[in-house]
Amino acid sequence: MREDVHLRREVELIDSHIHLHEYGSDVGRYCGNSRLHMIAVSDDLDSSKRTLELGSTCSNVIPAVGIHPWSISEGADRYLSQVLELVNAATFIGEVGLDKIFVPQTYERQLTVFRKFLEAARDAGKGVSVHAAGAWVDALRELERYDVKVAVIHWYTGPTDLLNTIKSLGYYIGVNPAIKIQKKMRNVVKAAPLEILLTESDGPYTYRNLKLGSELINDTIKIIAELKGISEDEVSNTIKQNFMSMLKKLR
Ligand SMILES: [Zn+2]
Repeated sequence: MREDVHLRREVELIDSHIHLHEYGSDVGRYCGNSRLHMIAVSDDLDSSKRTLELGSTCSNVIPAVGIHPWSISEGADRYLSQVLELVNAATFIGEVGLDKIFVPQTYERQLTVFRKFLEAARDAGKGVSVHAAGAWVDALRELERYDVKVAVIHWYTGPTDLLNTIKSLGYYIGVNPAIKIQKKMRNVVKAAPLEILLTESDGPYTYRNLKLGSELINDTIKIIAELKGISEDEVSNTIKQNFMSMLKKLR
């Protein structure tokens, strides 16, 4: 862990979930930017290798390796053992999880893969960046069953009555800039305890014509502040605190 970087004062923005490997030659906009701190997630074997490279080149990147539940439809799970071998070189595992909305047809395979990664996270003491579209209850059940200590439920738009369970398990949720247009995301933030909130981008994904990216995190903070009736500074400081507390649990 690069403790000096995590605690640097000038870090202002936390992007707890970005697909940095997809930025190609644009990666220079983010890599080494001392105002931004990121957890860079992967989708499959090749992107896991690329993300590990970015983790060693960019001082502001925490690398995550994994197999995205959507990649299982393309057969990415045949490289499971090779991705698992990369876990020790990473700080996080992700993007991993379960998806009953977009790819329900591969659910059983997703479950097998997710469990292997959770086992690895527990044994190696890694954090997990979790995709759980339409499978919020199942994903939390598995995280708890495998006794995973550190998890961020990325772009959480699940039931608000699970927020206290997330808090009691010591996990966090990623608030996505989609909050600009997504009512479900706003309702989650209204109901969520401040101490479980992190910001994220999921960049460079496009959601309903909104091109997601770290640049939108300031807008996200503004909306969280409005919904919570507190200042933007308070939101931004709380999120930095949450991020640091989360990283401390990995030591
Ligand atoms: Zn993602």
